[in-house]
Amino acid sequence: MKAKVVIVGGGVMGVAIAWHCARRADPLAEPIVLLEKKALAAGASGRSGAILRQHYSDRVVAAMARDSLHVYSALERATGRSIGFQRTGVLTLAGPSKPDEIVLIERNVAMQREIGIVTRLVGAREIRRLVPGIAVDEGAVGAYEEGGGGVDPVLTVRAFAALAREHGAVTRIGTACTGLIVRKGRAIGVRTEDGDIEAEQIVIAAGPWTKRFLARAGVDVPLRVVRPEQHFLAMPAGVAGDSPSRAASTIEDRSQAQVSEAPSPARAFDGPSIEGMLDDRLGSTESELAPAAHPVLLDLEHGLYMRCESHASELGLPAPRTRVGRMDHSQDREIADPDELDETVSAEFERWARDSLVRRMPVYRARESVGSIVGLYNMSPDAQALIGPLPELAGVFLVSGFSGHGFKLAPSIGEGVAQMLWGEPVSAFDTEFFSPDRFEKGAARWGRAFGL
Ligand SMILES: Cc1cc2nc3c(=O)[nH]c(=O)nc-3n(C[C@H](O)[C@H](O)[C@H](O)COP(=O)(O)OP(=O)(O)OC[C@H]3O[C@@H](n4cnc5c(N)ncnc54)[C@H](O)[C@@H]3O)c2cc1C
Repeated sequence: MKAKVVIVGGGVMGVAIAWHCARRADPLAEPIVLLEKKALAAGASGRSGAILRQHYSDRVVAAMARDSLHVYSALERATGRSIGFQRTGVLTLAGPSKPDEIVLIERNVAMQREIGIVTRLVGAREIRRLVPGIAVDEGAVGAYEEGGGGVDPVLTVRAFAALAREHGAVTRIGTACTGLIVRKGRAIGVRTEDGDIEAEQIVIAAGPWTKRFLARAGVDVPLRVVRPEQHFLAMPAGVAGDSPSRAASTIEDRSQAQVSEAPSPARAFDGPSIEGMLDDRLGSTESELAPAAHPVLLDLEHGLYMRCESHASELGLPAPRTRVGRMDHSQDREIADPDELDETVSAEFERWARDSLVRRMPVYRARESVGSIVGLYNMSPDAQALIGPLPELAGVFLVSGFSGHGFKLAPSIGEGVAQMLWGEPVSAFDTEFFSPDRFEKGAARWGRAFGL
């Protein structure tokens, strides 16, 4: 078989890339072939919190999160496929005990508003209105994105794969890629358990398996895999404050002066009005899922994040539940082989998760624990992905190292990678920013957990 592009990996990146490539390819003459060794979303994607936030410190990534959120929010209505989209709002929160974090949030919000992201600074009083029952001190500052929320990661991966197939892509699920076929210094195809496939381009989107896979071809990529733990509590009912659609767009407290200096999104954004698109879509894509008890919280002060999840879990966790994870993954154990994942979650982590959650949201005090999971973060040195042709081996295109925050970016990644492979002008992201050889060139950036 001969393919235009072979994609290794059926996580959210592989299927998003397959979808966008298939839209450009001739399925008879030069098909797009995706290989997934186990099941769609069997890797990091199926365990993901799938939080859709736009709060980033880097303009490049914030813009991708903005554009991808548009796709996620419109997908159900446009395609009729459910992805479990929930627009809950997202609050990134800093407390007075960490003034540096407050400065960061203020700077980020100003930058994000310049590029048309609908976000605003909120002070303690407004935070309590948005999230009744939350414990915040006077002087706390948050960034509130009313358009953010989350999706069901497994449904989303399946939906992208189905869209790819509708455009003629071949998805071989349960077929492992066992190696690369290299001739005269160029990869010209892949070996699989079911035979060889010739390909013009081979995209490695194998998530945490990428480093080991490429090592077998003699290529060392600067990635390492860590194993974060996640704990779940039963979601309480009805603590939600103003829903995103009802939330006022006023800016209050001490934040007002800074924010009012920022250009308005309508003026700064080069394209259709995002605010208008949000108004049009608010509430229109919410499924019958139980409403979230409160917005997603990214708590920089106590170092945790939490998301109310109403969708069924492939991992057997009862819904609705609230996911709690740690922002700092420096304590997470590094693992050599993702196929040997130790699924044990420590009692110490579960205690920390419950205590930290209750400290911020006392309403959880009596909520029962409903399970825990471990995940896989595929870390790059600066916590941003590596995307582009592999300098060491022609014919191979790397899309990996999303460092625990890639799910929300997948629509932009799919589009941008397809643009790169087809030699089109790349509008979806800045290719230099993600260049796999940026570390050798000394162009590595400041890297902070989750790009925050
Ligand atoms: C616990 C957790 C919470 C997260 N929360 C968020 C969040 O809230 N928001 C957010 O934006 N991001 C989040 N992320 C990050 C996000 O989920 C990942 O960045 C994203 O899922 C990575 O997708 P991927 O396709 O690169 O990798 P994966 O989903 O790991 O996919 C790789 C696939 O490749 C397959 N594969 C490997 N080797 C081969 C081979 N040789 N042949 C064929 N197939 C192969 C694997 O089986 C796997 O299915 C979270 C991640 C975790 C683990």
